[in-house]
Amino acid sequence: MSILHYDVCPLCKSSAIAEERKVKDHSITKEVFALWRCAACDFLFTQDPPVAEEAGRYYKGEEYISHSDNQEGLVNKLYHKARDFMLAQKYRLVNRVANGKRLLDYGTGTGYFTDFMVRKGYSAEGIEIDTEARKYGADKFGITIRPPGALFNVLPADSLDVITLWHVLEHLYEPQTYLARFRELLSDQGKLIVAVPNHKSKDAKAYGAYWAAYDVPRHLWHFSPATMRRMMESSGFRVVETHHMPLDPFYVSIMSQKYKTGGGLVSGGLKGLGSFFSSSADAERGSSVIYVIEKGDLSPA
Ligand SMILES: [Zn+2]
Repeated sequence: MSILHYDVCPLCKSSAIAEERKVKDHSITKEVFALWRCAACDFLFTQDPPVAEEAGRYYKGEEYISHSDNQEGLVNKLYHKARDFMLAQKYRLVNRVANGKRLLDYGTGTGYFTDFMVRKGYSAEGIEIDTEARKYGADKFGITIRPPGALFNVLPADSLDVITLWHVLEHLYEPQTYLARFRELLSDQGKLIVAVPNHKSKDAKAYGAYWAAYDVPRHLWHFSPATMRRMMESSGFRVVETHHMPLDPFYVSIMSQKYKTGGGLVSGGLKGLGSFFSSSADAERGSSVIYVIEKGDLSPA
């Protein structure tokens, strides 16, 4: 396997980087990866991940299509309720901050959010790397879902009012390349909305190496509010609002508890509740954080 080794911090280029802890790929391969931290800017990243071309096998086994439309069973009922709740929450946030209705959902998966926004009157399209997910979403909803190359080849500059990335930025190789392109595609008043896990959250601290949202090596970058601000500012953006995602602490804590002890719906749920209250008081302590981002100054790197 070919790996990608970082000799300097992928965010600030400092060479003061060192291993912080080892984390297992609990969900798919059980392989162990190292998280490295930069002493200069505090950025945490997955060291030696597979190169992009060989990352596919780490995504095998994620059956998000097959269970997403199975209506049977309590777990599935809860899953659908949770999904509908989150779609409505995302819509309200986007609709409040957006200055127009041209929307791109980058990493849209099977397109539920894109479809929801189309039904709310948005001119929304998705981009998705997975061929099957693209086809599924396009067939089910009749929406446009393009492959990633479209970001650079098809969409014209200054053509979007909102770009959303729901749990996507942490998966992107060379995130700064994408951010530069998002900046070109957005209008001057455009908004970038990014949701990522927060490794400084209460549940991350509680579970340590078992914290499910490390999700190595699929998650290449492990953001805190401070490092997110730094990455955005280095790419000509600025963070203007932060919000928590109310369901994430429960999901992440229950998964983490499972990785740690093999079960523990109740204890995971209780930890999730603690994290939920903590993030309700301060979004930046949340298990995941939603960042509302505007164009800022493009400072010389
Ligand atoms: Zn750094």
